[in-house]
Amino acid sequence: MKIILLGAPGSGKGTVADQICAEFNIPHISTGVIFRDNIEKGTEIGKLAKQLIDNGSLMPDNITIALVKDRLLQTDCKNGYVLDGFPRTLEQAKALSKLTQIDAVIYINVPKQDILNRIENRMICTKCKKNFDKIIYKKSVCDQCGGKLEKRADDNLVAIEQRYDIYTKESQPLIKYYQKQMFEVAGSKTREETYKLVREFLKKRKC
Ligand code: ADP
Ligand code: ZN
Repeated sequence: MKIILLGAPGSGKGTVADQICAEFNIPHISTGVIFRDNIEKGTEIGKLAKQLIDNGSLMPDNITIALVKDRLLQTDCKNGYVLDGFPRTLEQAKALSKLTQIDAVIYINVPKQDILNRIENRMICTKCKKNFDKIIYKKSVCDQCGGKLEKRADDNLVAIEQRYDIYTKESQPLIKYYQKQMFEVAGSKTREETYKLVREFLKKRKC
Protein backbone atom coordinates (compact mmCIF):
# COMPACT_ATOMS: atom_id res chain seq x y z
CA MET A 1 0.00 0.00 0.00
CA LYS A 2 1.48 3.29 -1.14
CA ILE A 3 0.02 6.26 0.67
CA ILE A 4 0.46 10.03 0.40
CA LEU A 5 -0.43 12.31 3.29
CA LEU A 6 -1.40 15.87 2.43
CA GLY A 7 -1.93 18.69 4.87
CA ALA A 8 -0.45 21.94 6.10
CA PRO A 9 2.67 21.97 8.26
CA GLY A 10 1.51 21.01 11.75
CA SER A 11 -1.66 19.30 10.51
CA GLY A 12 -0.55 16.04 12.08
CA LYS A 13 0.82 14.22 9.04
CA GLY A 14 3.76 12.84 11.00
CA THR A 15 1.54 11.47 13.76
CA VAL A 16 -0.91 9.84 11.37
CA ALA A 17 2.01 8.44 9.37
CA ASP A 18 3.45 6.81 12.50
CA GLN A 19 0.09 5.28 13.33
CA ILE A 20 -0.40 3.87 9.81
CA CYS A 21 3.14 2.54 9.67
CA ALA A 22 2.85 0.78 13.02
CA GLU A 23 -0.39 -0.92 12.04
CA PHE A 24 0.35 -1.79 8.42
CA ASN A 25 4.05 -2.39 8.88
CA ILE A 26 5.36 -0.14 6.12
CA PRO A 27 8.09 2.51 6.30
CA HIS A 28 7.43 6.16 7.09
CA ILE A 29 9.17 8.40 4.59
CA SER A 30 9.30 11.99 5.75
CA THR A 31 11.28 14.42 3.63
CA GLY A 32 11.46 16.76 6.64
CA VAL A 33 13.14 14.01 8.68
CA ILE A 34 15.52 13.22 5.80
CA PHE A 35 16.53 16.89 5.54
CA ARG A 36 16.97 17.29 9.29
CA ASP A 37 19.15 14.14 9.33
CA ASN A 38 21.30 15.72 6.65
CA ILE A 39 21.56 18.90 8.71
CA GLU A 40 22.68 16.88 11.76
CA LYS A 41 25.26 15.00 9.72
CA GLY A 42 26.53 18.20 8.09
CA THR A 43 26.23 16.90 4.50
CA GLU A 44 26.20 19.24 1.49
CA ILE A 45 22.42 18.89 1.25
CA GLY A 46 22.28 19.55 4.99
CA LYS A 47 24.13 22.84 4.64
CA LEU A 48 21.62 24.10 2.10
CA ALA A 49 18.70 22.66 4.10
CA LYS A 50 19.86 24.50 7.22
CA GLN A 51 19.62 27.87 5.47
CA LEU A 52 16.33 27.23 3.71
CA ILE A 53 14.39 25.25 6.29
CA ASP A 54 15.12 27.41 9.32
CA ASN A 55 13.53 30.41 7.65
CA GLY A 56 10.57 28.42 6.38
CA SER A 57 11.48 28.05 2.68
CA LEU A 58 11.18 24.87 0.64
CA MET A 59 14.11 22.82 -0.59
CA PRO A 60 14.59 22.82 -4.39
CA ASP A 61 12.42 20.32 -6.27
CA ASN A 62 15.33 18.62 -8.06
CA ILE A 63 17.16 17.76 -4.84
CA THR A 64 13.99 16.66 -3.08
CA ILE A 65 12.82 14.49 -5.97
CA ALA A 66 16.24 12.82 -6.31
CA LEU A 67 16.33 11.99 -2.58
CA VAL A 68 12.85 10.49 -2.61
CA LYS A 69 13.56 8.54 -5.78
CA ASP A 70 16.58 6.94 -4.09
CA ARG A 71 14.68 6.21 -0.93
CA LEU A 72 11.81 4.50 -2.77
CA LEU A 73 14.28 2.12 -4.42
CA GLN A 74 15.35 0.67 -1.08
CA THR A 75 14.11 -2.84 -0.36
CA ASP A 76 11.95 -1.93 2.64
CA CYS A 77 9.69 0.02 0.25
CA LYS A 78 8.67 -2.97 -1.81
CA ASN A 79 5.38 -3.52 0.05
CA GLY A 80 4.52 0.16 0.19
CA TYR A 81 5.16 3.21 2.33
CA VAL A 82 3.66 6.37 3.73
CA LEU A 83 4.95 9.60 2.18
CA ASP A 84 4.82 12.47 4.67
CA GLY A 85 5.78 15.90 3.32
CA PHE A 86 6.20 14.73 -0.24
CA PRO A 87 4.95 15.75 -2.74
CA ARG A 88 4.80 19.40 -1.69
CA THR A 89 4.67 21.01 -5.13
CA LEU A 90 2.94 20.12 -8.41
CA GLU A 91 6.32 19.45 -9.95
CA GLN A 92 7.07 16.88 -7.24
CA ALA A 93 3.64 15.27 -7.74
CA LYS A 94 4.25 14.94 -11.47
CA ALA A 95 7.70 13.43 -10.87
CA LEU A 96 6.21 10.95 -8.40
CA SER A 97 3.55 9.89 -10.90
CA LYS A 98 6.35 8.86 -13.25
CA LEU A 99 8.02 6.76 -10.55
CA THR A 100 5.08 4.77 -9.23
CA GLN A 101 1.34 4.48 -8.79
CA ILE A 102 -0.06 5.64 -5.47
CA ASP A 103 -2.91 3.67 -3.83
CA ALA A 104 -4.34 6.23 -1.44
CA VAL A 105 -4.14 9.97 -0.80
CA ILE A 106 -5.23 11.25 2.59
CA TYR A 107 -5.74 14.96 3.22
CA ILE A 108 -5.73 16.11 6.83
CA ASN A 109 -7.64 19.37 6.97
CA VAL A 110 -6.97 21.62 9.97
CA PRO A 111 -7.86 25.33 10.42
CA LYS A 112 -4.93 27.74 10.31
CA GLN A 113 -5.29 28.96 13.90
CA ASP A 114 -5.10 25.38 15.27
CA ILE A 115 -1.97 24.87 13.21
CA LEU A 116 -0.23 27.94 14.55
CA ASN A 117 -1.03 26.89 18.13
CA ARG A 118 0.14 23.36 17.57
CA ILE A 119 3.45 24.28 16.00
CA GLU A 120 4.14 26.73 18.80
CA ASN A 121 3.69 23.87 21.29
CA ARG A 122 5.40 21.14 19.29
CA MET A 123 8.41 19.33 20.76
CA ILE A 124 10.39 16.69 18.94
CA CYS A 125 12.50 13.76 20.22
CA THR A 126 16.12 14.32 19.26
CA LYS A 127 16.62 10.56 18.90
CA CYS A 128 13.57 8.88 17.32
CA LYS A 129 11.92 12.11 16.00
CA LYS A 130 8.54 11.45 17.60
CA ASN A 131 6.41 14.60 18.05
CA PHE A 132 4.84 15.75 21.31
CA ASP A 133 2.54 18.60 22.33
CA LYS A 134 4.00 20.26 25.40
CA ILE A 135 0.52 21.20 26.66
CA ILE A 136 -0.49 17.52 26.73
CA TYR A 137 2.87 15.87 27.40
CA LYS A 138 4.69 17.48 30.30
CA LYS A 139 7.90 15.42 30.43
CA SER A 140 11.19 16.49 28.89
CA VAL A 141 12.17 13.03 27.62
CA CYS A 142 10.55 10.80 24.97
CA ASP A 143 8.14 8.07 26.17
CA GLN A 144 9.28 5.82 23.34
CA CYS A 145 13.08 5.92 23.52
CA GLY A 146 14.06 8.21 26.40
CA GLY A 147 15.61 10.77 24.03
CA LYS A 148 15.70 14.44 24.93
CA LEU A 149 12.84 16.59 23.60
CA GLU A 150 13.52 19.91 21.96
CA LYS A 151 11.85 22.52 19.81
CA ARG A 152 12.56 22.44 16.09
CA ALA A 153 14.56 25.41 14.81
CA ASP A 154 11.85 26.16 12.20
CA ASP A 155 9.01 26.02 14.73
CA ASN A 156 9.11 29.73 15.51
CA LEU A 157 6.29 32.12 14.68
CA VAL A 158 8.06 33.93 11.83
CA ALA A 159 9.04 30.71 10.06
CA ILE A 160 5.62 29.19 10.71
CA GLU A 161 3.81 32.07 9.00
CA GLN A 162 6.23 31.77 6.10
CA ARG A 163 5.71 27.99 5.87
CA TYR A 164 1.95 28.45 5.95
CA ASP A 165 2.07 31.00 3.11
CA ILE A 166 4.24 28.70 1.04
CA TYR A 167 1.90 25.84 1.80
CA THR A 168 -1.07 27.86 0.52
CA LYS A 169 0.76 28.78 -2.65
CA GLU A 170 2.76 25.62 -3.48
CA SER A 171 0.98 22.73 -1.81
CA GLN A 172 -2.71 23.56 -1.86
CA PRO A 173 -2.87 23.00 -5.64
CA LEU A 174 -2.09 19.35 -4.84
CA ILE A 175 -5.49 19.02 -3.20
CA LYS A 176 -7.08 19.70 -6.54
CA TYR A 177 -4.55 17.54 -8.38
CA TYR A 178 -5.37 14.49 -6.22
CA GLN A 179 -9.07 15.31 -5.70
CA LYS A 180 -10.41 12.18 -7.42
CA GLN A 181 -8.51 9.69 -5.28
CA MET A 182 -8.39 11.76 -2.10
CA PHE A 183 -9.88 10.98 1.30
CA GLU A 184 -10.36 14.08 3.44
CA VAL A 185 -10.37 13.94 7.20
CA ALA A 186 -10.92 16.78 9.68
CA GLY A 187 -7.73 16.84 11.70
CA SER A 188 -8.82 19.09 14.57
CA LYS A 189 -9.96 16.13 16.64
CA THR A 190 -7.75 14.09 18.97
CA ARG A 191 -5.07 11.96 17.36
CA GLU A 192 -7.07 8.81 18.19
CA GLU A 193 -10.25 10.12 16.57
CA THR A 194 -8.39 11.30 13.49
CA TYR A 195 -6.62 7.99 13.09
CA LYS A 196 -9.86 6.02 13.55
CA LEU A 197 -11.27 7.67 10.41
CA VAL A 198 -8.05 7.14 8.46
CA ARG A 199 -7.94 3.50 9.50
CA GLU A 200 -11.56 2.85 8.47
CA PHE A 201 -10.82 4.36 5.09
CA LEU A 202 -7.69 2.24 4.58
CA LYS A 203 -9.39 -0.96 5.75
CA LYS A 204 -12.28 -0.39 3.36
CA ARG A 205 -9.86 0.07 0.49
CA LYS A 206 -8.13 -3.19 1.44
CA CYS A 207 -4.98 -2.06 -0.31
P1 ADP B 1 6.16 20.48 8.51
O1 ADP B 1 5.18 19.46 8.00
O2 ADP B 1 5.90 20.87 9.90
O3 ADP B 1 6.30 21.65 7.60
P2 ADP B 1 8.39 18.83 7.71
O4 ADP B 1 9.20 18.10 8.70
O5 ADP B 1 7.53 18.04 6.79
O6 ADP B 1 7.58 19.86 8.56
O7 ADP B 1 9.34 19.74 6.78
C1 ADP B 1 10.22 20.68 7.32
C2 ADP B 1 10.83 21.52 6.20
O8 ADP B 1 11.60 20.69 5.30
C3 ADP B 1 9.83 22.24 5.30
O9 ADP B 1 9.39 23.45 5.85
C4 ADP B 1 10.69 22.44 4.04
O10 ADP B 1 11.60 23.50 4.20
C5 ADP B 1 11.51 21.17 3.96
N1 ADP B 1 10.81 20.16 3.13
C6 ADP B 1 10.22 19.02 3.59
N2 ADP B 1 9.66 18.33 2.58
C7 ADP B 1 9.89 19.04 1.45
C8 ADP B 1 9.55 18.87 0.08
N3 ADP B 1 8.83 17.80 -0.34
N4 ADP B 1 9.95 19.81 -0.81
C9 ADP B 1 10.66 20.86 -0.42
N5 ADP B 1 11.01 21.11 0.86
C10 ADP B 1 10.63 20.22 1.80
ZN1 ZN C 1 12.25 9.19 21.04
